[in-house]
Amino acid sequence: MKKIAIIGAGMAGITAARTLKQAGFHVSVFDKSTHASGRMSGLSTPLGSFDQGAQYFTVRDPRFLKALEEVPGTVKVVRAWGSTAVRVLDARGRVLEASHPSQEPHFVAQPSMGALVEHWAQPLMDDGQIHFDAQVHSIQKDQSNPKLWQLRLENQSDSAHSGFDGVILAIPAPQAQKVIDNSTPSVYESQLRQSFKQVEMGPCWTLMVAFAQASQLKVGNFGPQWNAAKSTNHRIAWLSRESSKPSRSRVERWTIQASTEWSQEHLGDDHDRIQAKMLKAFAELSGIYAQPSQANVKLWQYAKTLKPLGVTHQWDEKLNIGTCGDWHLGHRVENAFVSGLSLALSLV
Ligand SMILES: Cc1cc2nc3c(=O)[nH]c(=O)nc-3n(C[C@H](O)[C@H](O)[C@H](O)COP(=O)(O)OP(=O)(O)OC[C@H]3O[C@@H](n4cnc5c(N)ncnc54)[C@H](O)[C@@H]3O)c2cc1C
Repeated sequence: MKKIAIIGAGMAGITAARTLKQAGFHVSVFDKSTHASGRMSGLSTPLGSFDQGAQYFTVRDPRFLKALEEVPGTVKVVRAWGSTAVRVLDARGRVLEASHPSQEPHFVAQPSMGALVEHWAQPLMDDGQIHFDAQVHSIQKDQSNPKLWQLRLENQSDSAHSGFDGVILAIPAPQAQKVIDNSTPSVYESQLRQSFKQVEMGPCWTLMVAFAQASQLKVGNFGPQWNAAKSTNHRIAWLSRESSKPSRSRVERWTIQASTEWSQEHLGDDHDRIQAKMLKAFAELSGIYAQPSQANVKLWQYAKTLKPLGVTHQWDEKLNIGTCGDWHLGHRVENAFVSGLSLALSLV
């Protein structure tokens, strides 16, 4: 039985881990966070949950469809988000009549987007194969057998996880580069490191607001008639009504994503300043000028792939180290699934 370490418990890492486990490999997954799901994670608040990363997913690849239909219990986790004729707004919030909303079905997980990966991660968690709060600093030669690898964790200098035949980095390209840069010379000098230079990923400031007062008003008397929109506004690229998604609290809640360009320009700003600026733009676009009863801001440093690598995954056969993640193919949940699956199948 081969022992494989997987860094990252997002869609790509968990897909790879499940596939390898089913094929008889012994897998150990490491994530710096406290839970699985990565950029699909949700935020729980007293007024209801928010999808603070991915808003929905599409299903174009038949293997993704098969997994959604056949992995036990998954059909109960996934729901179609019925009311998403995604509008396209101009910079001042007017719906552009000429634009045709996508008819492609949009899916969400319930009770929030993170539930899909968390569900798929459960068998690994049950078998103690996922380590949370475990930020990987570097890949080093195993002290007892130089043909194998060990992982050094950040802030835990005495803690090394060892004896791995191979290592998979299922994390965004800039974060993978950091781990490789810290690693033993043979890893640092590998071709993998060169590949990161070909990839571009951009940030996303995200604002999540709730209007508890709106629940006393009649539906339709608060805010716009649409539930999700892309915008050509310089500041805001996307806004959606969380309360319109299935199996969510009915409290009026919105998630608003800044454009990549604006997020990049305002990377160093503090949360209060970002909140004020995004709220102003949100009011202009949605017509909701009320003060929210609750607001949260999050910065995703590596939110979106701007320039993908163009291959499904990478595997260095000499080192037995590889990479997977959405950034190989694009910027969507489904890209992460396909990448993780492809890498795992190439090892089976
Ligand atoms: C704001 C936003 C909106 C989005 N909207 C959509 C959408 O509507 N539809 C869609 O299809 N996609 C959307 N996406 C993209 C989608 O979320 C990603 O494509 C997908 O979740 C990527 O999965 P992944 O496994 O490749 O990476 P990730 O989800 O980033 O997983 C990587 C994991 O690695 C961990 N990690 C990183 N570094 C280390 C380290 N050194 N040691 C240990 N752990 C580490 C992280 O904690 C994380 O859990 C959005 C993303 C963002 C941020």
